[in-house]
Amino acid sequence: MNAPLPAEVLKQHLIDPEICIRCNTCEETCPIDAITHDANNYVVDPDICNGCMACVPPCPTGAIDNWRLVARAEAHSVHDQLGWEELPKEQAPPIAAGSESPAAAGEPPPAPAAPAAPGAAVPPWSAAHPYVNLYTHKTPMTATVVGNYRVTGADTDSDIHHIVLDFGELPFPVLEGQSIGILPPGLDAQGRPHHARQYSLASPRDGERAGYNNLSLTVKRVTEDHAGAAAHGVCSNYLCDLVKNDKVQVIGPFGHTFLMPNHSRANLIMICTGTGSAPMRAMTERCRRRIDAGENGKLMLFFGARTERELPYFGPLMKLPPDFIDINLALSREAGQPKRYVQDLIRDRAAKVLELLADRNTCIYVCGLKGMEVGVLDALRDVTVQSGQDWSILHDALRREGRLHFETY
Ligand code: NAP
Repeated sequence: MNAPLPAEVLKQHLIDPEICIRCNTCEETCPIDAITHDANNYVVDPDICNGCMACVPPCPTGAIDNWRLVARAEAHSVHDQLGWEELPKEQAPPIAAGSESPAAAGEPPPAPAAPAAPGAAVPPWSAAHPYVNLYTHKTPMTATVVGNYRVTGADTDSDIHHIVLDFGELPFPVLEGQSIGILPPGLDAQGRPHHARQYSLASPRDGERAGYNNLSLTVKRVTEDHAGAAAHGVCSNYLCDLVKNDKVQVIGPFGHTFLMPNHSRANLIMICTGTGSAPMRAMTERCRRRIDAGENGKLMLFFGARTERELPYFGPLMKLPPDFIDINLALSREAGQPKRYVQDLIRDRAAKVLELLADRNTCIYVCGLKGMEVGVLDALRDVTVQSGQDWSILHDALRREGRLHFETY
């Protein structure tokens, strides 16, 4: 059993700068703003962090889950951490722990409970073992571009590309739902190398082309910020402009929870917007390639985009047989049609969603815009409550059993 620490000892929360891909997830998640960053590192302020752990499950790499016992008076400062290239080595505890009771030692009160994360912190029980962090900032892998195609209508503002990267002879084992980091060339405004940008795989574990050592990404060219002002996305523009045989620096793979179940007859409810469709394409393609084995469960897809022509992979998606996948398109700006979001369609299809939710072999995946998280949870709660069930009990079970996963930005 862990003895309580004396008051003068701190279990300091640190982020591993060698593994961190600077995706900002931890800073967004921290409920008390204890995490900050500069152009070099993401760091935890020891004066603010209360060890609530809210940031730990969403971190795609595990870089966030590092702790050192230090004398409280000698805690690693924010300033020191911002300059680190690597974590300091583990030291022997500064004082033998557990010699006093928490009260006698003036132990601070336990940290307040973190708000529950909407999704699971564990993968489905039957998910395959993922490899993570095989290639890092210090040891990136060089991939070769073997394809770069636009997958949205040429007359639309949504310039979304399907990019295929080949790894040649080097191993790069991945699973559907994992992501990789791309290191764009050049320097940022502070003269430092650009940070890695994270993209989900759009291809299944056996390659974009089955049996080849390659994978694909779905990348939207960023030309404006969230407020609609002109902005040049460093990595998205770099990737969308690549041509065949260009070389790309890659790190990863990342992600150990947003993984598909591996057992037969598992059902998938996939809910996505825009380029959040990448992992859904990977999972759908994994199932499509094994149709003949007869082991697939039911696949249900809710896919949101502005219009059909802005929906990536619209053509190939429409060719999939209806008895293989139940496709529901939510179009928000299609001329002459009412604005629809994925959460509206979940309510429309309540009976089928409930049937799948009642089966413990069903896993739910949500990927895309951050704003959809609340809408999708509300819709799942509404359909559950309307059928007389308690959503909080079901929600807890879905999280505990690794059956509800979010990847939103
Ligand atoms: P988008 O085109 O801006 O939006 C797609 C659709 O979602 C539109 O119909 C939009 O409707 C709708 N939408 C907006 N707010 C919504 C809400 N609160 N609830 C439900 N639907 C909503 O999408 P995008 O630019 O492709 O963005 C996709 C997101 O996925 C990005 O945040 C990206 O970072 C993330 N993502 C990408 C990857 C990848 O590998 N590339 C992986 C994971 C996640 P209106 O705009 O008409 O209101």
